[in-house]
Amino acid sequence: MHNAAFRALGLDWVYLAFDVPPGEVEGAVAGMRALGIEGLSVTIPHKEPMAGAVDVLSPLAQALGAVNTVVRDPRGRLRGENTDGPGFLRFLTDDEGFDPAGRRCLVVGAGGAARAVVKALADAGAAEVVVAGRTPARVEAVAALAGDCGRVGVPAEAGEADLVVNATPLGMAGTDAAGQLPVDDAHLGPGQLVVDLVPNPAITPLVEAARARGAMAVNGLGMLVHQAALAFRMWTGQEAPVAVMSAAALADLARR
Ligand code: NAP
Repeated sequence: MHNAAFRALGLDWVYLAFDVPPGEVEGAVAGMRALGIEGLSVTIPHKEPMAGAVDVLSPLAQALGAVNTVVRDPRGRLRGENTDGPGFLRFLTDDEGFDPAGRRCLVVGAGGAARAVVKALADAGAAEVVVAGRTPARVEAVAALAGDCGRVGVPAEAGEADLVVNATPLGMAGTDAAGQLPVDDAHLGPGQLVVDLVPNPAITPLVEAARARGAMAVNGLGMLVHQAALAFRMWTGQEAPVAVMSAAALADLARR
């Protein structure tokens, strides 16, 4: 996505992947400083440790305790940002035409993606954000991020929700959970938007089941593209070519 965007805008930048072992975030950040790397994308399991390794955190990264984007400012200070929640909101509003304000939302899962999405929905004015998951203490902590509109619930409450989000890896291609549904599809139907944050396959088991029940349903590729587009703008100062990035992501997934 990023290399396609750099090419499209004629920028002499390159985006590379580095496999960083767990526990090696401090070393990776030292390497970034020494090499003069302009920015980083950060993924599991490093998002939380990265919050302690940068020089300064954005208010959102601070609230979430997690960083998915690192930006080097002109003075060389490293700023930790989190574009997952804002990227999710951009995807909802720009791609799906769904405004969360006043809507009832159910989020299944209590990891980093759930934290970002729950806070984004609450900050966007959702009427209710119900969080369901398998580890009660984690679910309570995620629901608390939504403040007054957040509460702990169960997946079976999907029937009352306008928006249902899967923020677990259930349904991800190539894993033991590939065929599993996070929500019983009997609770899904017309008038609902179902978003499976799993970006691969294109039609996840949840997307397929939800569509069969008459709901609108999409996978997590749109969020992936928009969180990347927001990071691109932070690094380069230029508006990201979202359509180019989306096409590159789709082409890459099609090759896998
Ligand atoms: P994470 O921090 O590891 O959290 C995963 C969550 O799923 C945890 O709450 C975990 O439960 C739950 N879970 C895992 N296996 C489960 C199972 N078999 N049954 C029930 N619950 C299960 O991961 P994450 O970063 O939040 O990512 C979650 C999903 O979102 C992944 O599929 C990832 O690909 C996707 N994601 C997509 C984007 C995007 O841009 N589209 C961005 C980030 C993540 P416990 O709380 O009990 O551990």
